[in-house]
Amino acid sequence: MKPFCDSFGRTHSYLRVSVTDACNMRCTYCDPSHTGRFANDRLLSMQEILRIVRLFVTGHGITKLRLTGGEPMVRRDILQLFRGIGELKTTYPLTVGMTTNGTLLFDHLPSLRALGLDALNISLDSLDRDRFHSITGMDALPHILESFRRAQELGFPSVKANVVIMQGVNDHEIPDFVRFAAEHSLTVRFIEYMPFAKNKWESDRFIDFRSMKQIAEQEGTLIPMAYQPHSVSKDFRIAGTNGMVSFISSVSDHFCGGCNRLRLTADGQLRTCLFALPSMETDLRTLLRSREGSDEAIADAVRNVLKNKWEKHPDPDTIVSTQHSVMRAIGG
Ligand code: SAM
Repeated sequence: MKPFCDSFGRTHSYLRVSVTDACNMRCTYCDPSHTGRFANDRLLSMQEILRIVRLFVTGHGITKLRLTGGEPMVRRDILQLFRGIGELKTTYPLTVGMTTNGTLLFDHLPSLRALGLDALNISLDSLDRDRFHSITGMDALPHILESFRRAQELGFPSVKANVVIMQGVNDHEIPDFVRFAAEHSLTVRFIEYMPFAKNKWESDRFIDFRSMKQIAEQEGTLIPMAYQPHSVSKDFRIAGTNGMVSFISSVSDHFCGGCNRLRLTADGQLRTCLFALPSMETDLRTLLRSREGSDEAIADAVRNVLKNKWEKHPDPDTIVSTQHSVMRAIGG
């Protein structure tokens, strides 16, 4: 086993794969215009994704995998990928997660559970039907709540709600989300609003995790959980309940020191940071499709790009002025 390490001694055991840049929602904070999608032949095929996943798991110590997008469930062949990953899980220690908007999930939940999906993060930016519609462009809140209920009934080991909090849009719903977590015994993750290409990030819509936490504490006492190595979140149990809330402070309090994440974009670029510039990616798609694309050559390309991984990502103003990637291609 040859783990992927960077020049700051960080070992990378977590791979996030954006399986498509297409999405059926138009979230205001992501890329509501949804223009400039990759041509189909630029997207990695499921076989290509599986080859990378297999190589990273069997040869380089990846033990955690998350599929994201775009919306991963819009890929018609997504179950084929889960099947291949499920086979790997029979021999290698691997936790598999998916981040999804939940709109195309309900009917597939039993198959996904049977194929070994461990962790579901479902985006849920409002508990108010009209507001949910205006943030996401889709009147889908009741359906998504059904998917949460069904996923919990089916016994997925982890079911979490992802909420991007924007000042003046949904910040006043933080107490409702705390109640939701407590009533349904699940985790709600409050995510700081991050700047990306085409999402028209504005600092006055931004609210940091400390302010979010203060609002959340109006609803119940938050008991801090032990810090997990590599964790991206600050986790709290809501006193007297089985509900949890977490805060993801990517903007105000970065967690780069424990970063163990590699990201594969929908068009097969390997990036070492969510905020990396396109010039800091390495093109695994072209390599995969070439005669030179042996397993060793792919691993070398990853090691090379890791040599330039930055110690920590820049501040938001720098990101706003330099960021040229859309979130739906990177996958969050
Ligand atoms: N379509 C899926 C979904 O909606 O969950 C997966 C892709 S989405 C890009 C992955 C995660 O990124 C979601 O939880 C979403 O809320 C989050 N996200 C997207 N844009 C964001 C932004 N500007 N700031 C913070 N989180 C963002």
